[in-house]
Amino acid sequence: MKPWEANIRKVTPYVPGEQPKNADVIKLNTNENPYGPAPAVKRALKEFDAELLRLYPDPASDVLVDALAKRYGLGKDQIFVGVGSDDVLAMAFLTFFNSDRPILFPDISYSFYSVWAELYGIPYERPALDDGFQIRKEDYYKENGGVIFPNPNAPTSLALGLADVEDIIARNRGSVVIVDEAYIDFGGESALGLLSKYENLLVVQTFSKSRSLAGLRIGYAMGNPALIKALNDVKYSFNSYTMNRTSLVLGAAAVKDEAYFQETVGKIKATRERTKERLKALGFVYPEPSANFIFAGRPGTDAKALFEALREKDIYVRYFDAPRIDRYLRITIGTDEQMERLFDFLENYLKH
Ligand SMILES: *Cc1c(COP(=O)(O)O)cnc(C)c1O
Repeated sequence: MKPWEANIRKVTPYVPGEQPKNADVIKLNTNENPYGPAPAVKRALKEFDAELLRLYPDPASDVLVDALAKRYGLGKDQIFVGVGSDDVLAMAFLTFFNSDRPILFPDISYSFYSVWAELYGIPYERPALDDGFQIRKEDYYKENGGVIFPNPNAPTSLALGLADVEDIIARNRGSVVIVDEAYIDFGGESALGLLSKYENLLVVQTFSKSRSLAGLRIGYAMGNPALIKALNDVKYSFNSYTMNRTSLVLGAAAVKDEAYFQETVGKIKATRERTKERLKALGFVYPEPSANFIFAGRPGTDAKALFEALREKDIYVRYFDAPRIDRYLRITIGTDEQMERLFDFLENYLKH
């Protein structure tokens, strides 16, 4: 080993879903929105004055924070924005999970959590979901250095009821509880209404799924002003200009186009309901989905082989070769036409 090699930080990175170069694939593997961004976003992009890119953006991201504050009925000092919720969550791990006690998150959950914990040297424990893939709230009553879980959960799509979410927050007043609501617009009940009651709660959401802007990279956290200030202090110790000028303008435009947001979220939920029935008819089982994806397995069918056969035909879904979940596929809800192509394939595949 070269001497400098000993000084390199060794990490095992998160593996993002595949982004195939070929544009004609049916892409149901990374939970993107099948519909384009809001018309207001497209207009704002056309009108964007590239001359302005000469100047640094507003470090406080005021136009975007203001739009979000109005949308959610919060103060501007209750909102923190970042480069996708991955950036917001990474910043939150660094800011709030700074004790010797382990942080807690489910064994089956967003796989980035353990990556950040390892990167920052945060001890962690992963209480097991029950056999129905549900979070057991009692597992989160023990002493800890913080709690984080997605609601609805990924990759299961299963939501935890708000009363149970509240119990976890109420039992952990001594640590920060982060509810990662990447998929909340598609189902489940948001913890946002609990912000006025619990100063240890941070709710994180994203523009990547329900707002059709995965390519722009915007995420945000909502919490009491002391938590938001702590996040900003860490951000300013890292990079003052995380949000670029285009993200700020287009992101604000997206938040203001409520009608389009409601329409596309509604369409995805309707397609999800139809997809559930079609899957069930083919013998698939799945935890009750509340997100824009279904975590489906079929007793007697090898999930990995099916995943590979789908991929051969340019239909991309997600497969996790990990204990307890290797008999399932995570299938993003696309348009009705895309789901039709998926079912054409499945019906034929399962005949053989
Ligand atoms: C998609 C996702 C995120 C991250 O989304 P960004 O694109 O970084 O905003 C965070 N948490 C969960 C559970 C997700 O599925």
